[in-house]
Amino acid sequence: MSVVGIDLGNLQSVISVARNRGIDVICNEVSNRATPSLVSFGYKQRYLGESAKTQEVSNFKNTVGSLKRLAGRTFNNPEVQEFEKPFINAELVDVDGQVGVKVNYLGEEQSFSNVQLLAMYLSKLKDITAAEINGPVSDCVITVPGWFTEVQRRAILSGAQIAGLNPLRLVNDLTAAALGYGITKLDLPEDKPRNVVFVDVGHSSYSVGVVSFIKGQLTVRGCAYDQHFGGRNFDQVLTDHLAAEFKEKYKIDVYSNSKALLRLRVAAERCKKILSTNPQAPVNIESIMDDKDVSALINRTDFEEWAAHLFTRTEDNLRKALENAGMTVADIDAVEIVGGSTRIPAIKTTISNYFGKTISTTLNQDEAVSRGAALQCAMLSPVFKVRDFRVNDIASYPVKVQWPKTPEDEDTEIVAFDVNNSIPSTKILTFHRSEPFTLEAVYAQPDLLPRGTNPWIGQYTVKDIKPVNGEAAQVKVKIRLNIHGVFSVESAYTVEEKTVDEEFTNKDGEKETKKVKKLVKTADLTVVSQATDVPVNVVNNYTEKESQMAANDKLIMATEAAKNSLEEYGYEMRDKVTGPLSEYIDPSIKEQFENDLSAVVDWIYEEGDEQPKSVYVEKLDALKKIGSPVVERYREAESRPRAIKSLRDE
Ligand code: ATP
Ligand code: MG
Repeated sequence: MSVVGIDLGNLQSVISVARNRGIDVICNEVSNRATPSLVSFGYKQRYLGESAKTQEVSNFKNTVGSLKRLAGRTFNNPEVQEFEKPFINAELVDVDGQVGVKVNYLGEEQSFSNVQLLAMYLSKLKDITAAEINGPVSDCVITVPGWFTEVQRRAILSGAQIAGLNPLRLVNDLTAAALGYGITKLDLPEDKPRNVVFVDVGHSSYSVGVVSFIKGQLTVRGCAYDQHFGGRNFDQVLTDHLAAEFKEKYKIDVYSNSKALLRLRVAAERCKKILSTNPQAPVNIESIMDDKDVSALINRTDFEEWAAHLFTRTEDNLRKALENAGMTVADIDAVEIVGGSTRIPAIKTTISNYFGKTISTTLNQDEAVSRGAALQCAMLSPVFKVRDFRVNDIASYPVKVQWPKTPEDEDTEIVAFDVNNSIPSTKILTFHRSEPFTLEAVYAQPDLLPRGTNPWIGQYTVKDIKPVNGEAAQVKVKIRLNIHGVFSVESAYTVEEKTVDEEFTNKDGEKETKKVKKLVKTADLTVVSQATDVPVNVVNNYTEKESQMAANDKLIMATEAAKNSLEEYGYEMRDKVTGPLSEYIDPSIKEQFENDLSAVVDWIYEEGDEQPKSVYVEKLDALKKIGSPVVERYREAESRPRAIKSLRDE
C-alpha cells in the first residue's frame, strides 16, 4: 500500500510519497516535479497533464485548466462567470447541474462536468505515482484551500473516487505546510507556543494562517483568504499593459482573438518570472495576429507600480489573519512562505515589512504543501509509523442546524460548529420527539462564503421514533464535522433514564453494587440524509465513462507504440540485412525479405498510418518470423569467439 500526498494546484500539482527513508517528491513522465493541472481533448484521445500542456496553444479550445476553481460550482455561479471564465478557453456549459465544458473529443461535441474533469486529472496523477513507485496507488491525502465549502470538498472527493483514489483526508494547504514544518522542528517549546505565520500565494488563491506550535502538536489559530488573488492576477496586469501597448504600436486588438490572447498571457507570465530576478524583461511574440510580430521591454519598477493595488491586498490579508487569530505582529515568532508567487520580490518585501522580520526559509516553497500532505497520509495510514504529531485544524465557516418548532422544544436552531471550530469534531444534539423529524444543516453566515454558494448543507430525517409511555422520547443526534471538513449526521438513537446496577470498590477494597440512574441507549434510529454530494448514480455513470475513456486512451497509446515498433523494426532490419546480418541470411530469401521490409516502411506512411493495433502486431510478427532466426544465428556467431576466448583464459 502506498502513502501519497497530492498538492492539487490550480496551475500545477505536486505529488509526494512516503518511503522508509522519508518523503520524496516524485517526477512525472518528463521528469518534472510538478504536473500541469490541465486536461485536453483530441480527435483520437485525451491528453492529461504534461501532454495537455504541449497542446495548450494549438488545441486551446479543447484544453481545460482551472480544474480546482470549477470544482463544485454551478454554471450560473457569478464567480465562475466573472473570475474563472476569462481564464478558460473551452466553452463553459451546465452539465448535470454543475459547471462543465463542451469540447470536441473523438470528432464530436461532448460535455464533461467539473467532477469528471477532476477525475481525469487525478487519474493521471495516480498513474504517474503508480509508475514511479511501481505498485498500486489508492490511499492519499489531497490538499484544498481552507476556504473551500462542502460542495467544493465533495466534488474533489467524488473526482478522487472516480479516479480510484481513496482520500484519507482533504487537508487545508496551509495546515499541510505547517505539519511539514512542525514535524521536522526538533526544538519546539514545551509550554509557551511558537507562533508561526504561513503564507501561500499560488496561481489563483492566497492564504495566510497563524499556527501555534508546541512539542508534538500544532494548532491553527486563525486564517484569512483572498480567494481571487494569485499569480494569474499579476499576469493579467502585464497582459493588460502589453495589450494596450500593442494596440498603440501595432494597431492590433489582442482581446479580439482568443488564441492571440492566450499567447500573450503565456508571454506575460514568462515576463513576470524574469522580473522576479531581473530589473527588466523582454517580451517577443512572433506572428501574434494579423501576421504581426510584437515586442516590448518591461521594467520591474513599472510592473510594481501597475500592480500596486495587488500589494495592498497582500497586506490586507496578513492583517485579517492576525485579527482572526486574535494576535498582533508582536506575537509572531516566524514567517514562512510557500507558493510560486511568493517569488515576486515586492510580495516578499510586503510580507517581511508587515511583520518587521526576515522571512524564514525552512520550507521548500514549491513542495512543502505536498510533502505535508504525504506526511499526513503516513500518519493516517496503517502502513507507516510516524512520530506522533497532533494537528488541530479549524473550520472556516460556522454551521447551523435548524428544525421546525415543536411543543417539546423551545429552540429551532443551534450553531453546531462555529467559525474556528476544530476539525474533525463531533457533537451530540438532544431532542424530545414522538414522531419522525427533519433537521437541516446550513452555513450560518452566508456572507462569508464564496459568492453564489448555496448555504444549504443537507437535510436529515430521523425516523422510527416511538413514544415512551405516551410521552416524547429523548432522541440523541450525533453530528460531525469530519476529517475532510464535511458535515454529516453520524447516527441517531433514543435514550431512557434507567436504574441500573453499578459495581464499585468500597473502602475495604471489596466489590459492591449500588443502584444508579443512568441514560441508556434504547434503540438506534434510521437517518435518511440528503446532502450536496454528487448522487451515487451520477458517480457510477461518470466512473463507467471514465474507464471507457481511459481504456480508449490506453488502446490508442498501445496502437501508437505498436506502430512505432513496426516502423523501427522495418528501418533497423533493412539497414542490417544489407550490413552485418547479410552473411547470416539464406540468400534465397534475402531479396524477398528486403522487399518486405521496404514495403512495410512505405505502407506505414500510406494506408498503414491509421490501423488497428492488431494489424501492426501481425505485420511485426510476420517480419520477425523471418528476421529473428537470422538475428539468432548472428548472435551465436558473435558470441562463439568470445566463448572460446574465455575458455582459453580459464
Ligand atoms: P493555487 O495554489 O492557487 O491553486 P498553484 O498551487 O498551482 O495554484 P503555485 O504552483 O504555488 O500555484 O504557483 C504558481 C504561480 O507562481 C504561477 O502564477 C506562476 O506564474 C508563479 N510563479 C512561479 N515562479 C515565479 C517567479 N519566479 N516569479 C513570479 N511568479 C512566479
Ligand atoms: Mg497551491
